[in-house]
Amino acid sequence: MIRYEEAQALIAKNIPPSQKESVTVLAALGCVIAEDIKSPLALPFFDNSAMDGFTFRAPNRPSRLVIRGTLKAGDPRSHIKPGEAWRIMTGAPVPYGADTVLAQEKAEIIQETLVLREPLPQGMNIRYKGEELRKGKKVISEGAIVTPATIGIMAGLGKNEAQIYKKPRVSVIVTGSELAAPGSDLSSGKIYDSNSAMVHAALMQMGIRPVFVKRLDDQPKKIKQVIGYALRESDLVILMGGVSSGDTDHVRPISKELGVETIFWKVSQKPGKPIYFGKKGNTLVFGLPGNPAAVFTCFYEYVYPAIRRFMGFREPHLGANFFPVRESIKADPEKTLFLKARIESSDGRSVVMTLGGQSSHMISSLQEANGILVIPSKRSVEQGREALVHLLPYGTEDGHAG
Ligand code: AMP
Ligand code: MG
Repeated sequence: MIRYEEAQALIAKNIPPSQKESVTVLAALGCVIAEDIKSPLALPFFDNSAMDGFTFRAPNRPSRLVIRGTLKAGDPRSHIKPGEAWRIMTGAPVPYGADTVLAQEKAEIIQETLVLREPLPQGMNIRYKGEELRKGKKVISEGAIVTPATIGIMAGLGKNEAQIYKKPRVSVIVTGSELAAPGSDLSSGKIYDSNSAMVHAALMQMGIRPVFVKRLDDQPKKIKQVIGYALRESDLVILMGGVSSGDTDHVRPISKELGVETIFWKVSQKPGKPIYFGKKGNTLVFGLPGNPAAVFTCFYEYVYPAIRRFMGFREPHLGANFFPVRESIKADPEKTLFLKARIESSDGRSVVMTLGGQSSHMISSLQEANGILVIPSKRSVEQGREALVHLLPYGTEDGHAG
């Protein structure tokens, strides 16, 4: 049995180096950029009008300028002669020979001439070529996370592809002869399978569409066939249930037969003590104990950071912060405790409270959870003292889905 920190270190050590690939800009959402992106052009790309108004060469004395026509956004850049003015729309190229734009609402027009009663400064209301970015300037650095803003920036530079670090191909297998599909009738002794949908959803929220999600009876032959297939087709296999040492716990011996090397089995923690981690070639295998709260905790504590490390995230773990506890919490003498918890804030002060239903077969209180409270062994926390909370990657501090 190893400790939580050792388990984390072993997983981190066994993640293969991130691989780059080119994908369409939209498909890069939520991924990590694998190259420095330099602007292939100056932005703005040409001098253009910041306003709807009139453009002309600013005269140095009161003048009347003949209005020649209209320049619209999308029109090619034109030429203008001294003594004339053109109507110009926002985004239209400022013509050669012009040096200023007068806002429409400030213009005095008399019989299609623009009356300027006093000299105007040059350069008014012009968005100059390259004022935001000069060509070749670094805009986005390797390691940046692709957000909708990133996608907008890249699109604005004319890029429709981006180099990112690959997402892993992930397979999900739950085992247990007691498991029934949600939507089906429950016969005697059966329970609904909550884990496969929960983990499937957690992956989807990370932008990962699993290769497959499969529910199997505790039947060694079939389990072997499906894990064998998953090992060939995946970078990461998530197995749930059947990882302890009971008569129907086939997952570890079968994985071993299929050539998976055990890196660890059992971590001194609650829930999720019999967690199993192994590797075949570059394919990682997580075996999560089947109790749903153990699956949830182990997913966010171990699988989530493993996937994010694979994807090149510099900070793969859940966000973390310290909060004062609302009630004293007793530590376990040996195990790290992961408690379903909720951070509540009022008047700028936050406290963390543990939720009901902490047993590993219970998940209903997770509906209210926005964090996992971490209590290392022997470190009881007195009321009002601070404890570490791992922040769930959804929702806000007041518990509403974001
Ligand atoms: P196991 O890890 O297979 O020993 O299962 C531990 C407990 O979790 C048992 O009570 C199982 O019935 C339950 N369990 C296993 N898999 C699931 C699942 N997919 N959904 C809900 N409960 C499960
Ligand atoms: Mg089982």
